[in-house]
Amino acid sequence: MQFIDLKTQYETYQAAIDARMNAVMQHGRFIMGPEIAECEAALAEYSGARHCITVSSGTHSLEIALRTLKIGPGDEVITVPFTWISSSEVVLLVGATAVFVDIDPVTFNIDLDQVEAAITPRTKAILPVCLFGQVPDMKRLNEIADRHGIPVLEDAAQSFGATQDGKRSGAMSTIGSTSFFPAKPLGCYGDGGALFTDDDELATAMRAVRTHGGTRRHHHTLVGTNGRFDTLQAAVILAKLPHFQNEVEARGRIGARYSDLLRGVCVVPEVIDGNTHVYAQYTIRVPDRDAMAASLKEKGIPSAVYYPKCLHEQPVFADLGYQYGDFPESEKASKEVLSLPMHPFLSEADQDKVVEAVKAAC
Ligand SMILES: *Cc1c(COP(=O)(O)O)cnc(C)c1O
Repeated sequence: MQFIDLKTQYETYQAAIDARMNAVMQHGRFIMGPEIAECEAALAEYSGARHCITVSSGTHSLEIALRTLKIGPGDEVITVPFTWISSSEVVLLVGATAVFVDIDPVTFNIDLDQVEAAITPRTKAILPVCLFGQVPDMKRLNEIADRHGIPVLEDAAQSFGATQDGKRSGAMSTIGSTSFFPAKPLGCYGDGGALFTDDDELATAMRAVRTHGGTRRHHHTLVGTNGRFDTLQAAVILAKLPHFQNEVEARGRIGARYSDLLRGVCVVPEVIDGNTHVYAQYTIRVPDRDAMAASLKEKGIPSAVYYPKCLHEQPVFADLGYQYGDFPESEKASKEVLSLPMHPFLSEADQDKVVEAVKAAC
């Protein structure tokens, strides 16, 4: 059994993927070829945002967004310590300070009750991470941010395809950022990512920052980078995107089935009102996570721990001055979480095996 089955996905769409990639090999415009604009138009339409800017990774996309918002030394960005490292790493990379807020234990997302108290005159952005594939209450978060005139940068790397009140993740705030890392809900065959916004000026500036801060050739007005998305990877996304909504729905069904079968056995990831969940990871909580993982492994069932250590416990963030104990819900989650096999091609038979193994280990 596979944790994420990319091979079956490739075989299912192989004809379209191969044809799209071959077209790029034939025209040879590997950098900013025609597939880039086509991919951006298709992603913008899917997301509901006015603009999509494709980029070289989900980490680079967050950095480009922060640079575009002119966030740097002396500025603070409110975010969470229970997540993948990218969202805080980029804050430090632009010279700003990450201010952590603990998570809500049910959704693993930023605790909205604690956001307002973390806002200071130096707060220049709020960076929620839509962990495991569902968004926090974005309406409430946007209201808090608006009241203080602060932009919201949504890290939708794991939640692309998820919705809240009919709006798609990535298109819910000032700027949305996603990743096309192969194992993400919408993955390419290498690194990639995208930015979304409704704001024309921010879109123009993000495009410029993506390509060396230039608005035209040999004219550089902003400090930029090389953050372009590969044309070959855009071809992969173009071939996969027509099937994406089906996969999103399959993910939702499979995740809901896991929860129906496991609720009461362990703590399952509940979906908050108004949300749909894409289960980038299907993550349960159990008191002895390591014993559970070992027991699953004996039965040939892969599992993974996202994330075994909070960011405030990572040496690279030591200068922020946090200590163990500062974020109890994040710390508790990091000890209890276990992610089970999850992908849109997971059969009910395999899922039943996982469920039986989890029950036997409880
Ligand atoms: C994967 C991920 C990223 C970074 O994406 P890359 O494309 O791997 O750089 C950022 N934030 C979260 C929450 C992620 O899961």
